[in-house]
Amino acid sequence: MTTTLGHWINGTIVADNNRPAPVTNPATGAVKLHVALASKATVESAIAAAEAAFPAWRATPPLKRARVMFNFKALLEKHADRIVEAITTEHGKVWDDALGELQRGIEVVEYACGAPELLKGEHNRDVGPEIDSWSEMRPLGVVAGITPFNFPAMVPMWMFPIAIACGNTFVLKPSEKDPGCPMIVAELLKEAGLPDGVFNVVNGDKEAVDTLLTDKRVQAISFVGSTPIAEYIYRTGTAHGKRVQALGGAKNHAVVMPDADLDNATNAIMGAAYGSCGERCMAISVVVAVGDEVADALIGKLTPKVQSLKIGNGMDRSSEMGPLVSKVHRDKVKGYIDSAEKDGAKLVVDGRSLKVAGHENGFFLGGTLLDNVRPDMVSYKEEIFGPVLQIVRVKTLEEAIALIEAHEYGNGVCIFTRDGGTARAFCDTVSIGMVGVNVPLPVPVAYHSFGGWKRSLFGDLHIYGPDGVRFYTRRKTLTQRWPMQPLAKAQFSFPSN
Ligand code: NAD
Repeated sequence: MTTTLGHWINGTIVADNNRPAPVTNPATGAVKLHVALASKATVESAIAAAEAAFPAWRATPPLKRARVMFNFKALLEKHADRIVEAITTEHGKVWDDALGELQRGIEVVEYACGAPELLKGEHNRDVGPEIDSWSEMRPLGVVAGITPFNFPAMVPMWMFPIAIACGNTFVLKPSEKDPGCPMIVAELLKEAGLPDGVFNVVNGDKEAVDTLLTDKRVQAISFVGSTPIAEYIYRTGTAHGKRVQALGGAKNHAVVMPDADLDNATNAIMGAAYGSCGERCMAISVVVAVGDEVADALIGKLTPKVQSLKIGNGMDRSSEMGPLVSKVHRDKVKGYIDSAEKDGAKLVVDGRSLKVAGHENGFFLGGTLLDNVRPDMVSYKEEIFGPVLQIVRVKTLEEAIALIEAHEYGNGVCIFTRDGGTARAFCDTVSIGMVGVNVPLPVPVAYHSFGGWKRSLFGDLHIYGPDGVRFYTRRKTLTQRWPMQPLAKAQFSFPSN
């Protein structure tokens, strides 16, 4: 018998064992634990706890809220090994990669430590005779986050540190595939001094999500996950009067120009394509080679590196790539390789038959490289989310840009070139939210904001950074007059200067 993970509500673990679901270690295929999938009533009790905690938390000075975040940051660092182990044994990614995602999450916590500064508002004296005016950033109330499996530490931390620092209370619905890390985080927030009810975790599936989407007490929803679900969340949440930001899937292209430093580009592309087994929304999944010479040279450099990837259990520190998250997902990714082959793509490296000794039941798939991929192929049109890199050959930069523009996703993109003019023209033209020049994973740092364009984001504001503060606050503008002398007469024209 394994343990069944419950929920974190009002500062304590709450059981709800009606619907336990297995959580598997992807490296071994063994069930590690079970997680309780919350009922509607359990989610409602979490919302009630968050609602009850809101008035006192809103009234807590931002500096005191920030102090909790300072303590939390120190605890995250102290317990990094425990968190990383939970991530690696439930998600499958290798140890250093899990540590990297935790660090990027911590950077958002550091940003949230600036709450007093971030919430300063704007003030103008003398906007009229004896009249002063200012804007304040007020918290919304109970807000919720719904997160994907691929970053169980970082993506929740894109949301709740800023939401909480701004004075909101939070209900997190993490992925049911790797729920261990968010429960550790909840425990550490309590140890950091966060009052009970300010942060709650409900583990669950559609039932939990739909409760959050429709409950009147929830003011705003942040979602990160696949595009069909993001669109559903945006439509349903906004139809219920909520503020929603819903970040979806991706297909990220790397354009390689003839003047690029190919050794640098090869190494950059290897990490960005096969890191985390390709299960990153910013993973490079398509290389657009400008000219056959570039394509052939790149393939020559990439092939031996893909063939010699060290693939194994993420807990083994020498592994460069771990397994995919589940058998179902591994088989889906294999299906995309099958379909690309059937559609006429050239299999340069085929990872389908990989076996990892001692881990025969793990969900492993070898690194795969496909050449001569065309835009009409299903493997090009859809997000694969696996260790599969596809090469599309074009003749010019204009053709490369047209290809990227035609794709439905607009999360990330990058260009490898030595020419400043080419880079600038590319950055100016592409309809993509995050653009890298010789940087394969242009994930914005914590004090900028993260978000894609087109069908990679539904909503207006990006996530974390300055947009995060705007998303989790509403503006109140005050205008005050303290007349030294009473008004001489009534004024019927519209007040103006
Ligand atoms: P997913 O959409 O399957 O699940 C995301 C969340 O939605 C989970 O909490 C899940 O429980 C919930 N969910 C799933 N089906 C639902 C349904 N029918 N109704 C209501 N809720 C539902 O995504 P995933 O497989 O966990 O994560 C991978 C996806 O996330 C990829 O598409 C990836 O590109 C995307 N992603 C995007 C970003 C970004 O910033 N744009 C970041 C990370 C991941």
